[in-house]
Amino acid sequence: MRAPLTVYLTFDVEVWCNGWSDLDAKFPASFERYVYGRSKDGDYALPKTLEILGRNALRGVFFVEPLFAARFGQRYLDIIVGMIHGQGQEVQLHLHPEWTDEIRPALIADVSKKRQHLSYYTREEQAALIGHGVAMLGKSGCSRIDAFRAGSFAANRATYEALAQVGLKHDSSFDVCLPISSADLDERAALLRPFVREGVRVHPMSVFRDGFGRLRHAQVGACSFMELRQGLEAAYAAGLGEYVVLSHNFEMLEPGSCVPDRVVMNRFSKLCAFLARERGRFRTAGFADEDGEDAITAGSPIPKVSAWATGVRYLEQAWRRL
Ligand SMILES: [Zn+2]
Repeated sequence: MRAPLTVYLTFDVEVWCNGWSDLDAKFPASFERYVYGRSKDGDYALPKTLEILGRNALRGVFFVEPLFAARFGQRYLDIIVGMIHGQGQEVQLHLHPEWTDEIRPALIADVSKKRQHLSYYTREEQAALIGHGVAMLGKSGCSRIDAFRAGSFAANRATYEALAQVGLKHDSSFDVCLPISSADLDERAALLRPFVREGVRVHPMSVFRDGFGRLRHAQVGACSFMELRQGLEAAYAAGLGEYVVLSHNFEMLEPGSCVPDRVVMNRFSKLCAFLARERGRFRTAGFADEDGEDAITAGSPIPKVSAWATGVRYLEQAWRRL
């Protein structure tokens, strides 16, 4: 029997204030929603995510965005890291540099205007911001940071140079479905399997061809459970070495509220139960204990899922809109 497929269940953890005005007034409620997501049925942001992973004894990787806390206070980052570590899960670095111009004292010299994507910054600026993020997570109790994901997957070639400079070994910022992602890399379309850039091991977002032939990344909030399961099974059958799944701290909440999104919650619960049941074929992992040597696989077939699996997603989307 083949070795199990390594599955990285990744969660980008971030806090937003619904725009950039009145940040101080909006922040307390935003933090409550994005971190706890309290409802009468339970706390469906981080607590429920951690609970479902724990119930199924699965490993998750939480890419935590620290720059919001450079604006509002390190203690808020401490809370997030404490919750994740408290459940034995892994914290890595996520960075949304659109916070940079809101932070005083400034972390880099040029904060004259808001620059959303990391790829809009020079290599030196990227290295400074990544280094600052690592230091902030360190203050919150992360003794080591091994992996990185750029906000909105907006990495570029300079990002890999900056990561090498700061000493991070793994990256998961490449998403072939998004034009902004690593747009200046050579052979972009061919980079669907792990590759090495500047000595950094890059674990691309996993994609599959949906029932209508379109490329789609494996995101819990944007795929049916059947698509996620069939994508994993096709990747296993094709002999791929790893599969990267995306979610966020707020994906089990309805947009703009703390009301649980039952469709996404059921999907995530089913995905975790499936992975727990199928440990012989799928092994959830973090980046802290990966040397990455054996993660590089030959060939890059794109998993395909059935029209029915994609049809279910359309039905679920219609149901959620009602
Ligand atoms: Zn993000």
